[in-house]
Amino acid sequence: MRKPVLFALILTLPAFMQVSRAQNQDSVILRKMYTEALMNPVAYKNLDYLCTKIGGRICGTAKAEEAVQYIKKVMEGMKLDTVFLQPVMVKHWERGTIETATVFSEKKGSVELHVCALGTSIGTGDAGIKAKVVEVHNFDELKAIGRSGIEGKIVFFNRAADDSRISPFEAYGRSVDQRTQGAMQAARLGALAVIVRSAAPVHNNFPHTGVLHYADSVKAIPAMAVGTNDADLLSAWLKDDPSLKLSMKMNCINLPEVQSSNVIGEIRGSEHPEEIIVFGGHLDSWDIGQGAHDDGAGVVQGIDILRIYQALGMKPKHTLRAVAFMDEEIAQRGADAYAEAAKKKSEKHIGAIEADRGAAVPQGFSVDASDSSIEKIKSWKPLFKPYNLWFFEKGGSGADIHALKKQGTPLIGLVTDPQRYFDFHHCANDTYDLVNPRELELGAAAMAGLVYLIDTYGL
Ligand SMILES: [Zn+2]
Repeated sequence: MRKPVLFALILTLPAFMQVSRAQNQDSVILRKMYTEALMNPVAYKNLDYLCTKIGGRICGTAKAEEAVQYIKKVMEGMKLDTVFLQPVMVKHWERGTIETATVFSEKKGSVELHVCALGTSIGTGDAGIKAKVVEVHNFDELKAIGRSGIEGKIVFFNRAADDSRISPFEAYGRSVDQRTQGAMQAARLGALAVIVRSAAPVHNNFPHTGVLHYADSVKAIPAMAVGTNDADLLSAWLKDDPSLKLSMKMNCINLPEVQSSNVIGEIRGSEHPEEIIVFGGHLDSWDIGQGAHDDGAGVVQGIDILRIYQALGMKPKHTLRAVAFMDEEIAQRGADAYAEAAKKKSEKHIGAIEADRGAAVPQGFSVDASDSSIEKIKSWKPLFKPYNLWFFEKGGSGADIHALKKQGTPLIGLVTDPQRYFDFHHCANDTYDLVNPRELELGAAAMAGLVYLIDTYGL
């Protein structure tokens, strides 16, 4: 009985040795990629310029255009095989210079709130809006109050994010409809304006902006966000004095659409140049911060993958493409333009990776792909163990690459520690000084490692 076992062992040994040799080589390459990312903080320097010299950059604005030219210049300076701008028509909204809200109560006095306009909101006009306030927590409550209670008033949406959720993204997801739909729902019942509790599981006074959606069939009304502490204050004052008034003023404005661009840089594949692995993040950001975590980080990390390949003298088999997508925050036009162009040119994307969850400690990858692709990525988990990446699960990827799903591209999102993300998200706190260079570089290295494995073994 021992002989066949020995025979089988001898037969399988070369294959086994081959596999382990390949694994060993892969782990050596990953280690080199991590060392390169950690020792040469080019991504961090690029982020510095993007955030502190250019700053917040809403699509359609002069700042966004400056960012496009800067990223193009960075890519051109790297002597990549191809650098080009891909045209994208975008909305153009300007915040303006005035955004104030003051509570007036005969009983309690007056207080100014920490507020900001929601993205794409119309302004209030020079005279501003002053009216009584109706507090609600969801759309059912709003409808139950009905037109008689809402007409001529300012609606205050005050549903707090659920702090008991372990994932702050879940907490955000369950409160953000007030921001996106609140103005439209309140306007249907004759409201004059809305003020919305910041969609974030935080307790401070940074108002969080973000896009809202109007409906063509409903009158557009002004909408602003208020810091969560001031939302609690307004709610408390309303309980004491339901007839208090809120005065709000904003001079934000929607202007005609303009042409902007995705910025694209490539290293051409040595064996399959027609097959592409795409990665990156979005270049536009909200303007009240510097767009550091959201999502300057993803942009510079994507570019760093190409830099790491160059620095290590590695030649990819497939074309590696870094994209700085335009307009993730308002209408995802950059994502659509990219996917349309890919379809028109019959490009084949064998993988897409997006980094848009802040430059915190990387935890792994969330994969939106076939079961076999997911299993393949999971089989690489041991290679990432030395770098503390543990999350390799089926899940969402990102808004910029999502449009490639229809073309059958496996989609992957870099997952980072989410607990502090909403300290920064869409607020004045999203600044360069709050990005940790090592966490940023570890994210770039994690993606570079995954790109290498996809390039070597496919998905
Ligand atoms: Zn983002």
